[in-house]
Amino acid sequence: MTFKELDLLPEILRAVEEVGYESPTPIQQRAIPEAIKGKDVLGCAQTGTGKTAAFSIPILQLIHKTRVQKGKHPIRSLILTPTRELAAQIGDNIKAYNKYLPSEYAVIFGGVNQNPQVRRLKAGVDILVATPGRLLDLMDQGHISLKNIDFFVLDEADRMLDMGFIHDINRILPKLPEKKQTMFFSATMPPAIVKLTKKLLHNPVSISVDVVSSAATTVKQEAYHVLKPDKKKLLLHLLKNPEIDQALIFSRTKRGADRLSRILAKANISSGAIHGDKSQGQRERALKGFKDGKLRILVATDIAARGIDIDSLSYVFNYDIPNEPETYVHRIGRTGRAGTDGTSISFCDIDERPYVKSIEKLTGTKINFIPDHPFEITEEGIKAYKEMQESYAKQNEIQMQKRREAKKRRREQGNAGGGSKNGGKRRR
Ligand code: AMP
Repeated sequence: MTFKELDLLPEILRAVEEVGYESPTPIQQRAIPEAIKGKDVLGCAQTGTGKTAAFSIPILQLIHKTRVQKGKHPIRSLILTPTRELAAQIGDNIKAYNKYLPSEYAVIFGGVNQNPQVRRLKAGVDILVATPGRLLDLMDQGHISLKNIDFFVLDEADRMLDMGFIHDINRILPKLPEKKQTMFFSATMPPAIVKLTKKLLHNPVSISVDVVSSAATTVKQEAYHVLKPDKKKLLLHLLKNPEIDQALIFSRTKRGADRLSRILAKANISSGAIHGDKSQGQRERALKGFKDGKLRILVATDIAARGIDIDSLSYVFNYDIPNEPETYVHRIGRTGRAGTDGTSISFCDIDERPYVKSIEKLTGTKINFIPDHPFEITEEGIKAYKEMQESYAKQNEIQMQKRREAKKRRREQGNAGGGSKNGGKRRR
């Protein structure tokens, strides 16, 4: 099946083509046509199945068809998701699919200053992606009204409950209009979730896909305990193995990806990097070089790696362990596709050990830690690393103190010079 057969707006088709998707994933094939018809959807699906596009594309299409062009827009779609990372990822997806449409969207989550989010909301948004806590905060302050919601998505419902969001959800639901289209996604369906679906959904189409967890059982998963400063040495050591003809290396940050590229270049290992700060042209060149076999390594951030389609990849490296277990599963799902043998190799620092636990819990498989490697974590290593970190922290504090003092001096000099810049006179 192709995206063309899904009866999508030409603007959406063009955007999807640009992201590089070749055909809709199973959940997209089944959910998009039903959602476009206005049906409620119950999706039993994890991250990595393409569920974000499965709900965002129909919403963009339906909102566009009924959108009044002028004036400030009320919020017509609410997408509720448990974590800021997921909220940001959904925002990125919507941004990509909405590229040729005029709809406005906003992403709100806690832990950051609310003012830019409030300003964005004041300008009028059609689609709001939110985590429950910040949504309630801004609703309580009168910045958000949900009375015009036509489309409601509850994403990762089981995780919401695991994270203790049930009270928040119970406060949000009564604020939504009775008549609306609801799409509900959950990786598992425990009784509490089933109860919630009964309350929320009307005659839904049920779709169940299970692509992600199967990757975790077919891919050989290896890991190394290693301190952060030793990760690059371990990587270069492992890359001496000629069996690793090509590998995709994941880095959490764009800066990390650039740093890795420089390390590889110094070691004469051909590589390309794709991340958000690279232009479309640079990304395409890197991807082509890798696919053509001219580059041995492709370094990518999670977001940039979305939608890239490389079939016969045997090795994936996790230079750091992602804090979202689904991200790990999605990363390793890049290998072992189309019947090839896949191996994932993860580098785990002390701070990252809890992430391994949540990955193993999600996948139900054990990651195989390789003992006796040259960069094994030792007591002395930990001590030296801690000392180094403390010394960095001290240097940082000294610099900050100097900056604070300089700022104070400037302020005092300014005051001694007669107060405000215009000498206390009012400007007309
Ligand atoms: P999700 O399950 O929505 O988090 O999506 C998982 C990943 O699959 C994301 O990186 C998407 O960009 C990517 N993706 C979604 N739909 C497709 C598609 N039709 N073809 C290829 N990749 C896709």
